[in-house]
Amino acid sequence: MKRLIALLMALTLLFASACGGDTQDSPTDDANPPAPQEPVTPPADETEPSDVEPEPEPEPEPEPEPVEQEPYEILDPTVMPEGGQRDGVTYAAYDGLVEHLFFHPIIAYPELAFDGDAQEKGLDDFMVTVDEFNKILESCYANDYVLVDIADVWSETTGDDGQPKMVRNTLYLPEGKKPLILSYDDTNYYPYMLENGLTYKLIIGEDGKVTSWGLDPDGNEVISRGLDAIPRLDEFVEEHPDFSPFGAKACLSLTGYQGILGYRTQTDGDVEWTDELEANRQSEREAVKPIIEELKRTGWTFGSHTWGHIRLGSGNMAKITADTEKWFDEVGSLVGETTILFYPHGERPDGGDWKQTGKAFRYLQSKGFRVFCSVGIESFSFIKKDICAVICDRLHPDGTTLRYSRKRYLQFYDAKDIMDPARPDYGVDWD
Ligand SMILES: [Zn+2]
Repeated sequence: MKRLIALLMALTLLFASACGGDTQDSPTDDANPPAPQEPVTPPADETEPSDVEPEPEPEPEPEPEPVEQEPYEILDPTVMPEGGQRDGVTYAAYDGLVEHLFFHPIIAYPELAFDGDAQEKGLDDFMVTVDEFNKILESCYANDYVLVDIADVWSETTGDDGQPKMVRNTLYLPEGKKPLILSYDDTNYYPYMLENGLTYKLIIGEDGKVTSWGLDPDGNEVISRGLDAIPRLDEFVEEHPDFSPFGAKACLSLTGYQGILGYRTQTDGDVEWTDELEANRQSEREAVKPIIEELKRTGWTFGSHTWGHIRLGSGNMAKITADTEKWFDEVGSLVGETTILFYPHGERPDGGDWKQTGKAFRYLQSKGFRVFCSVGIESFSFIKKDICAVICDRLHPDGTTLRYSRKRYLQFYDAKDIMDPARPDYGVDWD
Protein backbone atom coordinates (compact mmCIF):
# COMPACT_ATOMS: atom_id res chain seq x y z
CA MET A 1 0.00 0.00 0.00
CA LYS A 2 2.69 2.47 1.00
CA ARG A 3 4.65 1.57 -2.11
CA LEU A 4 1.60 2.21 -4.24
CA ILE A 5 1.10 5.62 -2.67
CA ALA A 6 4.78 6.42 -3.07
CA LEU A 7 4.64 5.49 -6.73
CA LEU A 8 1.58 7.62 -7.32
CA MET A 9 3.17 10.49 -5.50
CA ALA A 10 6.27 10.20 -7.63
CA LEU A 11 4.14 10.31 -10.76
CA THR A 12 2.26 13.31 -9.41
CA LEU A 13 5.48 15.14 -8.73
CA LEU A 14 6.83 14.31 -12.14
CA PHE A 15 3.69 15.74 -13.63
CA ALA A 16 3.80 18.75 -11.32
CA SER A 17 7.32 19.67 -12.32
CA ALA A 18 6.37 19.35 -15.98
CA CYS A 19 3.63 21.92 -15.48
CA GLY A 20 5.86 24.71 -14.31
CA GLY A 21 5.48 27.05 -11.41
CA ASP A 22 4.28 30.46 -10.47
CA THR A 23 7.08 32.71 -11.51
CA GLN A 24 5.56 34.89 -14.17
CA ASP A 25 5.18 38.60 -13.54
CA SER A 26 1.92 40.34 -14.19
CA PRO A 27 1.53 43.92 -15.26
CA THR A 28 -1.76 45.05 -13.79
CA ASP A 29 -4.03 47.14 -15.91
CA ASP A 30 -7.54 47.73 -14.65
CA ALA A 31 -9.00 48.20 -18.09
CA ASN A 32 -7.54 44.95 -19.36
CA PRO A 33 -7.47 42.40 -16.61
CA PRO A 34 -4.56 40.10 -17.25
CA ALA A 35 -5.35 36.67 -18.48
CA PRO A 36 -5.25 34.39 -15.52
CA GLN A 37 -2.08 32.46 -15.25
CA GLU A 38 -1.66 28.87 -16.25
CA PRO A 39 -3.18 26.60 -13.68
CA VAL A 40 -0.89 26.07 -10.78
CA THR A 41 0.30 22.56 -10.33
CA PRO A 42 -1.78 20.40 -8.08
CA PRO A 43 -1.11 19.55 -4.47
CA ALA A 44 0.12 16.11 -3.74
CA ASP A 45 -3.36 14.71 -3.48
CA GLU A 46 -3.79 13.73 -7.04
CA THR A 47 -3.98 10.01 -6.62
CA GLU A 48 -7.06 8.86 -8.47
CA PRO A 49 -9.80 8.05 -6.02
CA SER A 50 -10.01 4.49 -7.17
CA ASP A 51 -6.33 3.88 -6.49
CA VAL A 52 -6.44 4.41 -2.78
CA GLU A 53 -8.07 1.91 -0.49
CA PRO A 54 -9.47 3.20 2.74
CA GLU A 55 -6.97 2.63 5.51
CA PRO A 56 -7.88 1.65 9.01
CA GLU A 57 -7.64 4.60 11.34
CA PRO A 58 -7.17 4.74 15.06
CA GLU A 59 -10.45 5.30 16.82
CA PRO A 60 -10.98 8.83 18.10
CA GLU A 61 -12.07 9.58 21.63
CA PRO A 62 -15.79 9.12 22.23
CA GLU A 63 -17.64 12.35 21.54
CA PRO A 64 -18.34 14.31 24.70
CA GLU A 65 -21.85 15.39 25.64
CA PRO A 66 -22.81 18.63 23.89
CA VAL A 67 -22.14 21.74 25.94
CA GLU A 68 -23.91 25.06 25.70
CA GLN A 69 -22.43 27.16 22.89
CA GLU A 70 -21.23 30.70 23.22
CA PRO A 71 -23.28 32.92 20.93
CA TYR A 72 -21.61 33.75 17.61
CA GLU A 73 -22.74 36.69 15.50
CA ILE A 74 -22.55 36.71 11.70
CA LEU A 75 -23.18 40.09 10.05
CA ASP A 76 -23.77 41.19 6.47
CA PRO A 77 -20.89 43.30 5.12
CA THR A 78 -23.09 44.65 2.31
CA VAL A 79 -25.19 46.64 4.77
CA MET A 80 -23.92 49.89 6.28
CA PRO A 81 -24.39 49.80 10.07
CA GLU A 82 -26.96 52.29 11.27
CA GLY A 83 -25.42 55.72 11.71
CA GLY A 84 -22.25 54.44 9.96
CA GLN A 85 -20.91 53.01 13.22
CA ARG A 86 -20.92 49.74 15.08
CA ASP A 87 -19.37 49.19 18.50
CA GLY A 88 -17.75 52.61 18.27
CA VAL A 89 -16.05 51.77 14.95
CA THR A 90 -16.74 53.92 11.88
CA TYR A 91 -17.57 52.02 8.68
CA ALA A 92 -16.88 53.14 5.11
CA ALA A 93 -17.94 51.94 1.66
CA TYR A 94 -15.37 49.82 -0.17
CA ASP A 95 -15.48 48.99 -3.88
CA GLY A 96 -11.83 48.13 -4.45
CA LEU A 97 -10.09 44.84 -5.02
CA VAL A 98 -10.97 41.98 -2.71
CA GLU A 99 -7.89 39.88 -2.06
CA HIS A 100 -8.22 36.12 -1.89
CA LEU A 101 -5.69 33.74 -0.35
CA PHE A 102 -6.07 29.99 -0.29
CA PHE A 103 -4.35 27.37 1.79
CA HIS A 104 -4.14 23.62 1.78
CA PRO A 105 -4.28 21.84 5.11
CA ILE A 106 -1.25 22.89 7.14
CA ILE A 107 1.66 20.85 8.41
CA ALA A 108 1.42 20.18 12.14
CA TYR A 109 4.66 18.19 12.39
CA PRO A 110 7.33 19.34 9.91
CA GLU A 111 9.59 16.45 10.96
CA LEU A 112 7.06 14.01 9.49
CA ALA A 113 6.39 16.09 6.36
CA PHE A 114 10.02 16.86 5.58
CA ASP A 115 11.51 13.45 6.13
CA GLY A 116 13.01 12.92 2.69
CA ASP A 117 10.30 10.59 1.44
CA ALA A 118 8.56 10.75 -1.92
CA GLN A 119 5.94 13.21 -0.64
CA GLU A 120 8.39 15.74 0.76
CA LYS A 121 8.66 17.92 -2.34
CA GLY A 122 4.90 18.10 -2.89
CA LEU A 123 4.28 19.03 0.73
CA ASP A 124 7.00 21.67 0.53
CA ASP A 125 5.53 23.09 -2.66
CA PHE A 126 1.88 23.24 -1.73
CA MET A 127 1.61 23.63 2.01
CA VAL A 128 2.65 25.83 4.88
CA THR A 129 3.58 24.76 8.39
CA VAL A 130 1.65 25.71 11.51
CA ASP A 131 4.32 28.28 12.40
CA GLU A 132 4.15 29.83 8.95
CA PHE A 133 0.37 29.89 9.05
CA ASN A 134 0.39 31.70 12.40
CA LYS A 135 2.86 34.28 11.13
CA ILE A 136 0.86 34.81 7.94
CA LEU A 137 -2.32 35.43 9.94
CA GLU A 138 -0.51 37.84 12.26
CA SER A 139 0.93 39.72 9.32
CA CYS A 140 -2.34 39.95 7.36
CA TYR A 141 -3.98 41.23 10.52
CA ALA A 142 -1.22 43.78 11.10
CA ASN A 143 -1.60 44.92 7.47
CA ASP A 144 -5.24 45.87 8.08
CA TYR A 145 -6.94 43.02 6.29
CA VAL A 146 -10.30 41.85 7.61
CA LEU A 147 -12.07 38.63 6.67
CA VAL A 148 -15.12 38.57 4.44
CA ASP A 149 -17.01 35.56 3.16
CA ILE A 150 -16.67 34.89 -0.56
CA ALA A 151 -20.44 34.55 -0.93
CA ASP A 152 -20.91 38.16 0.27
CA VAL A 153 -18.67 39.74 -2.36
CA TRP A 154 -20.92 39.13 -5.39
CA SER A 155 -24.69 38.73 -5.66
CA GLU A 156 -27.10 37.52 -8.26
CA THR A 157 -29.55 40.08 -9.60
CA THR A 158 -31.67 40.67 -12.70
CA GLY A 159 -30.25 42.72 -15.56
CA ASP A 160 -32.10 45.25 -17.73
CA ASP A 161 -32.69 42.47 -20.22
CA GLY A 162 -34.54 40.45 -17.59
CA GLN A 163 -31.72 37.90 -17.40
CA PRO A 164 -29.98 36.92 -14.19
CA LYS A 165 -26.50 38.33 -13.76
CA MET A 166 -23.85 38.68 -11.08
CA VAL A 167 -22.91 42.03 -9.59
CA ARG A 168 -20.12 43.07 -7.30
CA ASN A 169 -21.42 44.29 -3.94
CA THR A 170 -20.23 47.39 -2.18
CA LEU A 171 -18.78 46.25 1.13
CA TYR A 172 -19.03 48.37 4.26
CA LEU A 173 -15.85 47.83 6.22
CA PRO A 174 -14.31 49.36 9.31
CA GLU A 175 -12.61 52.48 8.02
CA GLY A 176 -9.08 51.85 6.76
CA LYS A 177 -9.51 48.08 6.52
CA LYS A 178 -9.16 45.93 3.40
CA PRO A 179 -11.24 42.84 2.65
CA LEU A 180 -9.67 39.41 2.48
CA ILE A 181 -11.32 36.17 1.41
CA LEU A 182 -9.78 32.96 2.69
CA SER A 183 -10.43 29.54 1.23
CA TYR A 184 -8.94 26.19 2.22
CA ASP A 185 -8.70 23.48 -0.43
CA ASP A 186 -8.92 19.75 0.11
CA THR A 187 -10.00 19.85 3.76
CA ASN A 188 -10.78 16.17 3.46
CA TYR A 189 -7.92 14.72 5.51
CA TYR A 190 -6.69 12.40 2.77
CA PRO A 191 -4.82 9.31 3.97
CA TYR A 192 -1.49 10.58 2.57
CA MET A 193 -1.80 13.66 4.78
CA LEU A 194 -2.22 11.56 7.91
CA GLU A 195 1.09 9.84 7.25
CA ASN A 196 2.90 13.09 6.69
CA GLY A 197 2.44 15.16 9.81
CA LEU A 198 -1.01 16.67 9.31
CA THR A 199 -4.01 16.28 11.60
CA TYR A 200 -6.44 13.38 11.08
CA LYS A 201 -9.86 14.87 11.49
CA LEU A 202 -11.99 17.51 13.12
CA ILE A 203 -13.93 16.70 16.26
CA ILE A 204 -15.99 18.68 18.75
CA GLY A 205 -13.86 19.28 21.82
CA GLU A 206 -14.98 19.16 25.43
CA ASP A 207 -15.62 22.90 25.30
CA GLY A 208 -18.00 22.39 22.38
CA LYS A 209 -15.59 23.97 19.91
CA VAL A 210 -14.21 22.53 16.69
CA THR A 211 -10.88 20.92 17.45
CA SER A 212 -8.48 18.68 15.58
CA TRP A 213 -7.59 15.11 16.47
CA GLY A 214 -4.38 13.45 15.39
CA LEU A 215 -1.21 11.64 16.34
CA ASP A 216 2.14 13.17 17.17
CA PRO A 217 5.37 11.70 15.75
CA ASP A 218 5.52 9.24 18.67
CA GLY A 219 2.02 8.05 17.97
CA ASN A 220 0.38 9.77 20.93
CA GLU A 221 -3.12 11.14 20.50
CA VAL A 222 -3.26 14.91 20.31
CA ILE A 223 -6.43 16.96 20.59
CA SER A 224 -5.59 20.55 19.81
CA ARG A 225 -6.86 23.77 18.31
CA GLY A 226 -3.42 25.03 17.37
CA LEU A 227 -2.25 22.39 14.88
CA ASP A 228 -4.88 22.68 12.17
CA ALA A 229 -5.81 25.69 10.05
CA ILE A 230 -9.51 25.42 10.86
CA PRO A 231 -9.55 25.55 14.68
CA ARG A 232 -6.44 27.73 14.61
CA LEU A 233 -8.28 30.42 12.64
CA ASP A 234 -11.19 30.14 15.08
CA GLU A 235 -8.74 30.70 17.90
CA PHE A 236 -7.05 33.60 16.10
CA VAL A 237 -10.40 35.34 15.60
CA GLU A 238 -11.20 34.81 19.30
CA GLU A 239 -7.89 36.50 20.11
CA HIS A 240 -8.44 39.26 17.50
CA PRO A 241 -12.19 39.75 16.98
CA ASP A 242 -11.56 42.80 14.79
CA PHE A 243 -9.87 40.53 12.22
CA SER A 244 -13.36 39.23 11.41
CA PRO A 245 -15.82 42.11 11.95
CA PHE A 246 -18.62 40.14 10.26
CA GLY A 247 -17.80 36.75 11.77
CA ALA A 248 -16.53 35.31 8.47
CA LYS A 249 -13.86 32.58 8.55
CA ALA A 250 -12.88 30.69 5.37
CA CYS A 251 -14.70 28.79 2.65
CA LEU A 252 -13.81 25.09 2.79
CA SER A 253 -13.29 23.56 -0.64
CA LEU A 254 -14.29 19.90 -0.41
CA THR A 255 -13.88 16.91 -2.65
CA GLY A 256 -15.77 13.74 -1.75
CA TYR A 257 -13.74 10.73 -2.83
CA GLN A 258 -12.13 10.18 0.55
CA GLY A 259 -14.94 11.66 2.60
CA ILE A 260 -14.93 15.09 4.21
CA LEU A 261 -13.31 16.69 7.26
CA GLY A 262 -11.72 13.37 8.23
CA TYR A 263 -14.94 11.31 8.05
CA ARG A 264 -15.17 8.54 5.44
CA THR A 265 -18.53 9.50 4.01
CA GLN A 266 -17.78 8.34 0.48
CA THR A 267 -18.92 5.43 -1.64
CA ASP A 268 -16.35 3.48 -3.60
CA GLY A 269 -17.36 2.12 -6.98
CA ASP A 270 -14.27 -0.05 -7.18
CA VAL A 271 -15.11 -2.41 -4.37
CA GLU A 272 -18.13 -4.60 -3.85
CA TRP A 273 -20.36 -2.34 -1.79
CA THR A 274 -21.65 -4.35 1.18
CA ASP A 275 -24.25 -3.57 3.83
CA GLU A 276 -21.42 -3.32 6.31
CA LEU A 277 -19.57 -0.71 4.27
CA GLU A 278 -22.76 1.25 3.81
CA ALA A 279 -23.56 1.07 7.54
CA ASN A 280 -20.09 2.38 8.30
CA ARG A 281 -20.51 5.17 5.78
CA GLN A 282 -23.83 6.15 7.30
CA SER A 283 -22.32 6.29 10.77
CA GLU A 284 -19.53 8.52 9.44
CA ARG A 285 -22.16 10.77 7.87
CA GLU A 286 -23.90 11.05 11.22
CA ALA A 287 -20.62 11.72 13.00
CA VAL A 288 -19.63 14.61 10.75
CA LYS A 289 -22.98 16.42 10.97
CA PRO A 290 -22.34 18.17 14.31
CA ILE A 291 -18.95 19.34 13.03
CA ILE A 292 -20.54 20.86 9.93
CA GLU A 293 -23.24 22.46 12.02
CA GLU A 294 -20.74 24.05 14.40
CA LEU A 295 -18.52 25.23 11.53
CA LYS A 296 -21.48 26.90 9.84
CA ARG A 297 -22.59 28.48 13.08
CA THR A 298 -19.15 30.01 13.53
CA GLY A 299 -18.67 31.60 10.12
CA TRP A 300 -17.32 28.80 7.92
CA THR A 301 -18.83 28.15 4.51
CA PHE A 302 -18.42 25.36 1.98
CA GLY A 303 -17.74 25.02 -1.73
CA SER A 304 -17.22 22.20 -4.18
CA HIS A 305 -13.79 21.07 -5.31
CA THR A 306 -15.50 18.32 -7.40
CA TRP A 307 -16.04 14.83 -5.96
CA GLY A 308 -13.01 13.20 -7.51
CA HIS A 309 -10.64 16.18 -7.83
CA ILE A 310 -11.17 15.85 -11.56
CA ARG A 311 -9.79 17.91 -14.41
CA LEU A 312 -12.61 20.14 -15.63
CA GLY A 313 -10.64 21.05 -18.73
CA SER A 314 -10.89 17.50 -20.05
CA GLY A 315 -14.08 18.16 -22.02
CA ASN A 316 -15.34 14.76 -20.86
CA MET A 317 -18.94 15.75 -20.15
CA ALA A 318 -20.01 12.27 -19.04
CA LYS A 319 -17.32 12.29 -16.38
CA ILE A 320 -18.05 15.87 -15.32
CA THR A 321 -21.78 15.31 -14.94
CA ALA A 322 -21.39 12.01 -13.07
CA ASP A 323 -18.82 13.60 -10.77
CA THR A 324 -21.00 16.63 -10.10
CA GLU A 325 -24.03 14.48 -9.23
CA LYS A 326 -21.87 12.43 -6.89
CA TRP A 327 -20.64 15.59 -5.18
CA PHE A 328 -24.22 16.69 -4.56
CA ASP A 329 -25.22 13.21 -3.33
CA GLU A 330 -22.32 12.64 -0.97
CA VAL A 331 -21.08 16.11 -0.01
CA GLY A 332 -23.77 18.65 -0.87
CA SER A 333 -26.27 16.51 1.01
CA LEU A 334 -24.18 17.12 4.14
CA VAL A 335 -22.91 20.68 3.78
CA GLY A 336 -25.93 22.19 2.03
CA GLU A 337 -26.26 24.38 -1.03
CA THR A 338 -23.32 26.32 -2.35
CA THR A 339 -22.66 28.66 -5.25
CA ILE A 340 -18.88 28.31 -5.04
CA LEU A 341 -16.75 25.99 -7.17
CA PHE A 342 -12.99 25.69 -6.75
CA TYR A 343 -11.29 24.18 -9.79
CA PRO A 344 -9.10 21.15 -8.99
CA HIS A 345 -5.55 21.78 -10.18
CA GLY A 346 -6.73 25.35 -10.88
CA GLU A 347 -7.80 24.01 -14.27
CA ARG A 348 -10.54 25.98 -16.01
CA PRO A 349 -13.30 24.10 -17.85
CA ASP A 350 -13.35 24.07 -21.64
CA GLY A 351 -9.74 25.08 -22.15
CA GLY A 352 -7.83 28.03 -20.77
CA ASP A 353 -9.71 30.83 -22.53
CA TRP A 354 -11.60 32.40 -19.64
CA LYS A 355 -13.49 34.77 -21.92
CA GLN A 356 -15.30 31.88 -23.56
CA THR A 357 -18.20 30.05 -21.98
CA GLY A 358 -18.09 26.41 -22.96
CA LYS A 359 -20.21 23.36 -22.40
CA ALA A 360 -18.74 22.27 -19.07
CA PHE A 361 -18.95 25.80 -17.64
CA ARG A 362 -22.60 26.10 -18.72
CA TYR A 363 -23.41 22.74 -17.19
CA LEU A 364 -21.75 23.64 -13.86
CA GLN A 365 -23.50 27.00 -13.82
CA SER A 366 -26.83 25.24 -14.44
CA LYS A 367 -26.18 23.20 -11.29
CA GLY A 368 -26.14 26.38 -9.18
CA PHE A 369 -22.50 27.43 -9.18
CA ARG A 370 -21.94 31.17 -9.63
CA VAL A 371 -18.43 31.87 -8.38
CA PHE A 372 -15.72 29.86 -10.14
CA CYS A 373 -12.29 30.00 -8.53
CA SER A 374 -8.99 29.19 -10.11
CA VAL A 375 -5.45 29.93 -8.89
CA GLY A 376 -3.16 32.65 -10.17
CA ILE A 377 -0.72 35.44 -9.64
CA GLU A 378 -3.21 37.94 -8.31
CA SER A 379 -6.74 38.19 -6.93
CA PHE A 380 -8.19 38.68 -10.37
CA SER A 381 -11.96 38.57 -10.85
CA PHE A 382 -14.26 39.04 -13.81
CA ILE A 383 -18.06 39.12 -14.02
CA LYS A 384 -19.07 37.22 -17.10
CA LYS A 385 -21.36 39.03 -19.52
CA ASP A 386 -22.94 36.09 -21.33
CA ILE A 387 -23.88 34.01 -18.30
CA CYS A 388 -24.68 34.64 -14.65
CA ALA A 389 -21.28 33.85 -13.16
CA VAL A 390 -18.05 35.30 -11.78
CA ILE A 391 -14.61 33.89 -12.35
CA CYS A 392 -11.79 34.67 -10.00
CA ASP A 393 -8.23 33.73 -9.19
CA ARG A 394 -6.70 33.18 -5.79
CA LEU A 395 -3.21 33.68 -4.48
CA HIS A 396 -1.57 30.74 -2.78
CA PRO A 397 0.66 31.07 0.25
CA ASP A 398 2.76 27.88 0.09
CA GLY A 399 6.33 26.73 -0.37
CA THR A 400 6.51 27.74 -4.03
CA THR A 401 5.48 31.33 -3.41
CA LEU A 402 7.41 31.65 -0.14
CA ARG A 403 10.53 30.63 -2.02
CA TYR A 404 9.98 32.27 -5.41
CA SER A 405 7.25 34.96 -5.27
CA ARG A 406 8.21 37.03 -2.25
CA LYS A 407 7.47 40.41 -3.83
CA ARG A 408 3.99 39.51 -4.96
CA TYR A 409 3.01 38.70 -1.39
CA LEU A 410 4.64 41.64 0.38
CA GLN A 411 1.32 43.38 0.84
CA PHE A 412 0.37 40.44 3.09
CA TYR A 413 3.69 39.33 4.57
CA ASP A 414 7.39 39.07 3.90
CA ALA A 415 8.49 35.51 3.14
CA LYS A 416 11.77 36.30 4.86
CA ASP A 417 9.91 36.62 8.15
CA ILE A 418 7.65 33.68 7.51
CA MET A 419 9.59 30.77 6.09
CA ASP A 420 9.99 27.91 8.54
CA PRO A 421 13.61 26.77 9.05
CA ALA A 422 12.20 23.26 9.33
CA ARG A 423 11.70 23.25 5.55
CA PRO A 424 14.21 21.32 3.44
CA ASP A 425 16.94 23.32 1.78
CA TYR A 426 15.53 23.75 -1.72
CA GLY A 427 16.75 27.33 -2.03
CA VAL A 428 14.94 30.64 -2.38
CA ASP A 429 14.84 33.57 -4.78
CA TRP A 430 13.96 36.61 -2.70
CA ASP A 431 15.17 39.41 -4.98
ZN1 LIG B 1 -7.11 20.40 -4.69
